[in-house]
Amino acid sequence: MSALEPHIVDRDRTTGWIEVVCGSMFSGKTEELIRRLRRARIARQHTKVFKPTLDERYSDEEVVSHNENSVTTTTVAVPEEILDLVAEADVVGIDEAQFFDDDLVRVCQALAADGHRVIVVGLDTDYRAEPFDPIPQLMAVAEHVTKLHAVCVVCGAPANHSQRIVPGEDRVLVGATEAYEPRCRECFAPEPVTVTRPRPHTEALRMVPEDANGAPDDSSSAGDPSR
Ligand SMILES: [Zn+2]
Repeated sequence: MSALEPHIVDRDRTTGWIEVVCGSMFSGKTEELIRRLRRARIARQHTKVFKPTLDERYSDEEVVSHNENSVTTTTVAVPEEILDLVAEADVVGIDEAQFFDDDLVRVCQALAADGHRVIVVGLDTDYRAEPFDPIPQLMAVAEHVTKLHAVCVVCGAPANHSQRIVPGEDRVLVGATEAYEPRCRECFAPEPVTVTRPRPHTEALRMVPEDANGAPDDSSSAGDPSR
């Protein structure tokens, strides 16, 4: 049993359980979901992943983490639809869960009671650092909670906040990752701030193949600071 992941298979149990993976933007939540799903598949578990329809970045068919590790998903408008679509899935992943309404709590409880392992992934706070429903309620009823941190781009400390760096009052700027950067408690400001320094590397590192001389392949975009 790892600290991050409780257990994959427990064939003696009739109920499932709920795992919540939360944290700020750029904290690696979706990568962690993909990692858990990959391990579940190795254990011959059937997996199914859902996300809300309003998250329209990238493809409709995939959960795509910022490092482009991807998993096929089904989009649903409301949590209730998940109950009709899980079928034989042992493991039910739910990405971008903060965009669902509070009914997601009831649906996750029903899935767990019915024997499914439920992995819920979402932002636990909004850009003002206010709790982002329904993630706090899910954290309360979950068996396992994993809180991930990004790295503060100002000072390098563990970052718990998504700093808005463009003006606006909207609680959610869907998919607008360029509108945020990760910051720690000390460097965070609840109001949007203007950033004039170069954009930091908030993308995950990529593995770059080396050429025959052992030098990095410059044709890759991995080292492009404008990304
Ligand atoms: Zn900081």
